[in-house]
Amino acid sequence: MRLDVWNFCQVAFEPARGMQRGRAPVDTCVVHRELRGERHPVGWLRRRRLAAALARRAVELFRRLYVLGFPIRQLTLVDDYGASDDASMAADNSSAFNFRVVAGTDVLSQHALGRAIDLNPVENPWRKPDRIDPPAGAAFADRRDIRPGMIVRPGPIVGVLDELGWEWGGDWRHARDDHHVVWSRPL
Ligand SMILES: [Zn+2]
Repeated sequence: MRLDVWNFCQVAFEPARGMQRGRAPVDTCVVHRELRGERHPVGWLRRRRLAAALARRAVELFRRLYVLGFPIRQLTLVDDYGASDDASMAADNSSAFNFRVVAGTDVLSQHALGRAIDLNPVENPWRKPDRIDPPAGAAFADRRDIRPGMIVRPGPIVGVLDELGWEWGGDWRHARDDHHVVWSRPL
């Protein structure tokens, strides 16, 4: 399913969608039920309001990226990849909500909380000294060789993220997550 940016932002943070097809690990079932509102309907309504507030911020972010001429290779729901983050990243798909844990851990991802966006994962791979994800991102491991679609600091994209209040995974020290953009402030 292809979406324009506005529709993408409306649904990309909607917990109900990704969760329908997302594979929730057993040990996160309680959170899963809470997110669906089975235990806490008030929490569910609040979460929907948060999702709407975040969607507005995301639309503004995409508008600013468009003004800068930042190319986004592909923008579809992770649902189109069976909720597989690996498959979505390998296809260089930019995505947002996905009910999943952080790779290699049992900790819920910020994507599962509807707070994170991944932009051009091939041009901006997750990196540690001994590993790159997705593998095709190896072509973009040299962050000094700046090409379209890459996010680097200093640079205009990070300037917009800073201005609008988004946190950038490329600033992290434990692993560089250059495609990861997260709203970690109150909404
Ligand atoms: Zn991410």
